[in-house]
Amino acid sequence: MRLIIMGPPGAGKGTQAKFIAEHFKIPAISTGDIFRANVSEGTPLGVEAKRFMDAGEYVPDEVTNRMVRNRIDEPDAASGFLLDGYPRTVAQVEELDGMIRFTGHQLDAVVCLTVDQDEIVSRLLQRAQVEGRADDTEDVIRRRQDLYLQETAPLIEIYKQRGIVHEIDGIGEVDEVTARIFQALDVIPES
Ligand code: AMP
Repeated sequence: MRLIIMGPPGAGKGTQAKFIAEHFKIPAISTGDIFRANVSEGTPLGVEAKRFMDAGEYVPDEVTNRMVRNRIDEPDAASGFLLDGYPRTVAQVEELDGMIRFTGHQLDAVVCLTVDQDEIVSRLLQRAQVEGRADDTEDVIRRRQDLYLQETAPLIEIYKQRGIVHEIDGIGEVDEVTARIFQALDVIPES
């Protein structure tokens, strides 16, 4: 199973990604988490990514694509994966298509979480207090939302044309949203 979870920053992708990945016994691969781990370890990749992340900008495609390619080449992703936060640009869509085609597989589904923008901004401001992320200041939050609308939201249309998009209402309790996703994916949740 090869899946993508999409939605604006703060839509709850990371939380839902864990449940979906657990169900399908595949790794949830979050590019944001990988970048953050590299930043905290001070690796060259982290040093390069940090200035983009702190400004709420996208890390250049070349850097991000290389990182994802390496990650999905890992043995644990051989039977599938769930991507959270990737692809974010048209160039990344094309790159991912190439990566998956190379393995002889296909992309099975795109779960798209829809949420109200005001709701998102308040969620992110709350998260900023709890987690203290450097990219959760109000200006950066707004920049990330704008970038999402400009660069990433149009990708949904590309995947819709392939008939693999499941749009899910992301507002509500975590388990309600999970239930909607599982229903859309025809999954019977384990009790
Ligand atoms: P996230 O945790 O997914 O919101 O990602 C945090 C930050 O990491 C983003 O604001 C970007 O700076 C960077 N990032 C994560 N994924 C990507 C991607 N696919 N393309 C470019 N930058 C990314």
